[in-house]
Amino acid sequence: GCSVEEVTAAVRVAAEKVIEHRDELVELDRVIGDGDHGENLHRGFTAVVAKLDGGGFDSPAAVLKVTATTLISTVGGAAGPLYGTAFLRAATALGDVSEVDGRMAATALEAALEGVVARGKAAPGDKTMVDALTPAVAAARSTVDAGIADVLMAAADAAAAGAAATVPLVARKGRASYLGERSAGHLDPGARSTAVLLRALADAAS
Ligand code: ADP
Ligand code: MG
Ligand code: MG
Repeated sequence: GCSVEEVTAAVRVAAEKVIEHRDELVELDRVIGDGDHGENLHRGFTAVVAKLDGGGFDSPAAVLKVTATTLISTVGGAAGPLYGTAFLRAATALGDVSEVDGRMAATALEAALEGVVARGKAAPGDKTMVDALTPAVAAARSTVDAGIADVLMAAADAAAAGAAATVPLVARKGRASYLGERSAGHLDPGARSTAVLLRALADAAS
């Protein structure tokens, strides 16, 4: 399982990866949105790293919760509240455990997806981050008896495939939906950032 220190390190790695992918995410959002997704997440995860630097977290849930509240207060746009809700629901699902195992990671991921859907009302196929998270949850569930590294690796692989599969879709939620049919043929920025986040968490847990 992953201790509070390991969860903190994993969120830090995820934050750094998203920060690294800023320009790519800006480019993707420029094509079918308003070009700020990379900026939004760069701002939010830079603030998350600063919060983590402060330390003082007594449980994995506390780390996810401060990540959530920081993203909600700094990111804005569609993605801020959605990612904030995802991390908040994941924190709640973990409760007060001191070690996160594969089963708990799968449960937290599922809670994150439920939060995103409750907040944003997107269904699979709407060309959003839900298209990366939904297969990630299914993959995590089917590897639940493995260790956390394997569960997160399966989730990351599925999220990458799910994100890639948004290319031909017509957006039905968010700004990209304003483009109608013209949104087809492009990767969804939020699905891409979800895949980047999960890959980083998986790498950190391995
Ligand atoms: P904004 O569109 O407000 O500029 P961002 O650019 O930061 O916000 O985020 C855009 C991403 O948010 C999209 O690529 C999509 O994946 C995701 N998104 C938008 N609306 C929804 C929704 N209702 N449900 C789930 N994800 C959504
Ligand atoms: Mg945008
Ligand atoms: Mg915007």
